[in-house]
Amino acid sequence: MFATHLESAIDEARLEAGRPQTMHGGRPLWVRYDLGAVQRAVRPGDLATRVNSMWRYRELLPLPASAEPVTLGEGMSPILPCPRLGKELGLSRLFIKDEGQLPTGSFKSRGMAAAVSMARHFGIKRLAVPTAGNAGGALAAYGARAGMEVFVFMPDDTPIINQIEAYLCGAKVYLVNGLINDCGKIVREGIDKLGWFDMSTLKEPYRLEGKKTMGLEIAEQLGWRLPGVILYPTGGGTGLIGMWKAFDELTKLGWLTSSKLPKLVSCQSDGCAPIVRAFEKGERFAELFANAKTVASGLRVPAAVGDFMMLDAIRASQGWAVAGREDSIVPWMRRVASAEGIAICPETAVCFDVLERLIREGKIGRDDEIIVFNTGAAQKYPEAVTLELPRIDKNKPIDYAAFA
Ligand SMILES: *Cc1c(COP(=O)(O)O)cnc(C)c1O
Repeated sequence: MFATHLESAIDEARLEAGRPQTMHGGRPLWVRYDLGAVQRAVRPGDLATRVNSMWRYRELLPLPASAEPVTLGEGMSPILPCPRLGKELGLSRLFIKDEGQLPTGSFKSRGMAAAVSMARHFGIKRLAVPTAGNAGGALAAYGARAGMEVFVFMPDDTPIINQIEAYLCGAKVYLVNGLINDCGKIVREGIDKLGWFDMSTLKEPYRLEGKKTMGLEIAEQLGWRLPGVILYPTGGGTGLIGMWKAFDELTKLGWLTSSKLPKLVSCQSDGCAPIVRAFEKGERFAELFANAKTVASGLRVPAAVGDFMMLDAIRASQGWAVAGREDSIVPWMRRVASAEGIAICPETAVCFDVLERLIREGKIGRDDEIIVFNTGAAQKYPEAVTLELPRIDKNKPIDYAAFA
């Protein structure tokens, strides 16, 4: 066990790691490790022969070595070159890291694998989560895998696939006539009455650790260096914050061959862009984004408890927070999948609109090495796309000339 303690992200207070913890002063906790001991225990080259999942980074994860992880094989998603799309955009080195290939079809599996493993380690049996969609599906799956009871609260217009996946995994699923923060309030107020553990984004410290593995993985996959720019669709922020934490730990471990860190680009939809607003105003904390509305359900987070952690990371990386246009989402989904065969989620479509804008503004250059995260599979969002496909009557003569 290399995790030594938890540290408040707002005031650096030290908390004990050996028992369940939630927040401190209403703000999230970091998991801290004895990196010197990690350094002595493992070298980067040792990892190559290990299990092909995020659990290969075991020394940098909070689960004690004696405990078995709750796993569905999450991690090691491919970094796919996108030469055709890159050429269209005038870029020579464009890649997509495809998290849509993970169990439950999104990167949320990484966080829930770590958090549910820790919950089981602590003997917790009943979990609850407010969700914009994918986190509920992932918690239901990992909860089922661990034999736990799971309660999921989601807005009543959450994509139907998220409702179905949570239901099929045996979770108790409830639809709320509000947004994720309204669902969060219900979970919070039920803690005492129902004795469940709150698995909300950044309210327990371990989902972040699971998501951190995206950053570890990029470094290993690129031969222990990092790309120039990372575009990430941000809602609650664990993906972005987790990767920045990974880069910090890798730097301290001395595992990176170059000290140059990527610029982080936080991408939101103009239908819900609280972090972009705070970034533009130079603020460290974001204000509630009123009337949040976007088909990119993972980005429909009007207020994030880790806002300052996101904004600190974006600024430290010399990156940007930028909003993509809501009405460009479906065209980008089609354009990217048509060019490269990678079915990107609406959240990632927003990143491509942001990418095009940053190229136009000269902030991203032609030869920059760029990784765009596809955080989920397009197949989970049937509501996003309205189809009018031509029909064929099998009983009538076929007009083959019309196909050309
Ligand atoms: C949750 C989610 C996001 C946002 O991730 P955060 O870590 O909450 O910022 C982006 N894309 C998809 C597909 C998601 O499910």
